[in-house]
Amino acid sequence: MNPCSRLNSSPALVNIRPMTLTEKILARAAGKASVQAGDNIWVNADVLMTHDVCGPGTIGVFKREFGRDAKVWDKTRVVIIPDHYIFTADSKSNRNVDILREFVKEQGIEYFYDVIDDPNGSWVYDAAKGNRQRQYGSRYAGVCHTALPAKGHTRPGEILFGTDSHTCMAGAFNQFATGIGNTDAGFVLGTGKLLIKVPETMRFRLEGRLQPGVMAKDVILHCIGEIGFDGATYRAMQFDGPGVASLSMDDRMTIANMAIEAGGKNAIFPFDSRTAEYVDARVKLNGTKAGYQPVEADRDQTFVYELVVDLDQLEPTVACHPDPGQRKKAKDMDMKLDRAYVGSCTGGKTSDFVEFARVLRGKKVVIDTFGVPATPEIVRDLQTTYWGSQTIWDVMVSAGVQMTENAGCAACLGGPVDTFGRINKSGIKCISATNRNFPGRMGDKESQVFLASPATVAASALTGRVTDPRGHLGN
Ligand code: SF4
Repeated sequence: MNPCSRLNSSPALVNIRPMTLTEKILARAAGKASVQAGDNIWVNADVLMTHDVCGPGTIGVFKREFGRDAKVWDKTRVVIIPDHYIFTADSKSNRNVDILREFVKEQGIEYFYDVIDDPNGSWVYDAAKGNRQRQYGSRYAGVCHTALPAKGHTRPGEILFGTDSHTCMAGAFNQFATGIGNTDAGFVLGTGKLLIKVPETMRFRLEGRLQPGVMAKDVILHCIGEIGFDGATYRAMQFDGPGVASLSMDDRMTIANMAIEAGGKNAIFPFDSRTAEYVDARVKLNGTKAGYQPVEADRDQTFVYELVVDLDQLEPTVACHPDPGQRKKAKDMDMKLDRAYVGSCTGGKTSDFVEFARVLRGKKVVIDTFGVPATPEIVRDLQTTYWGSQTIWDVMVSAGVQMTENAGCAACLGGPVDTFGRINKSGIKCISATNRNFPGRMGDKESQVFLASPATVAASALTGRVTDPRGHLGN
């Protein structure tokens, strides 16, 4: 831990009543000593993130409401990450990236992770090259939620707004992070502020540690299964307890990412040495703002709900069609599958692919299986890390997985029909390491998506049926 990176200049919070982690961050951002659930408060944003799907609309709202010549409130706090509909020949999708580039140039926005290197160019996907070979420039960053921490934009104690529902993933970093719509985002662009109702907090106390074959995805699928896909509507989901210490930052990101799948306003984890290590390294590497002030839990916090989750007892879990709350244990299912998919902000990190490849190593998949890394950095990790004579990437390709170097959202959100891995046929049953499975999410609206961990997706790809990975673990 590097204590020099903490801010010491902010006034100490004087607690009138014990606050949860979320309440503490919101109180500070509102300039108040204390807040409680239900309070409506104006908070100052630290970062606003937008992408190619919602960015053009947000820019339109901003220009309409603040004027054609208006300037954003702070050009160093706006982060723009094209990632969704990128590797497609759809001209309207390509044009969205150009709209972002023009706005960035006009405003002098510092953090734009463009698909191409030429600031005066335009983005055109080359379908003739095929959808496996990389087609991006040196600044492209991949999926926004994975790129934000990797590029040093997530900091403990801060407020992150993003025009994407899975913005809650940054709660892994002891940050208040939530998705907002284009209208709110247009307002934040102009003012740097937003009116927020302080959410009630649900507590998920983690104990023990995950056993082999059980992953962070199983933790969050278990929790959502307990409360249902609307069980945390407009509430903060606070994950704490002694079990947190054993979870990597990737694990915490996976768990926080899916708070929205229970309707949560945000997710939040406590700050510890792992958080500090990750954040300090990333802000240093990328030269972003280094100082931050984490929040710590008060004693006697008030929760509207409490659940103890014994990580030792969790088993590989699946969320069945048609929503993320349809929980079953993998071992209790014997359903035939047509396809497997690993990727997205939730399931496309290096650690996800490592567990996926560990199960597949030396074997062959028996159904169509697609792999989409979340970021170019993850592509590099997988292509340069050797297990014996093979890279992790080669292990997956040898097993028959169709891997693309074009990191991004790909088929997680369906996308245009030429999107890599998209389900274009009715009736397909797909097991996926993504985060959402409402009808039509990955393409055809008559297809069915079953959410699971990368290990469970891998084991299922080997058998063609939903399969508990614990009988397939490699070294
Ligand atoms: S990978 Fe999927 S969930 Fe994540 S930002 Fe992209 S579309 Fe959304």
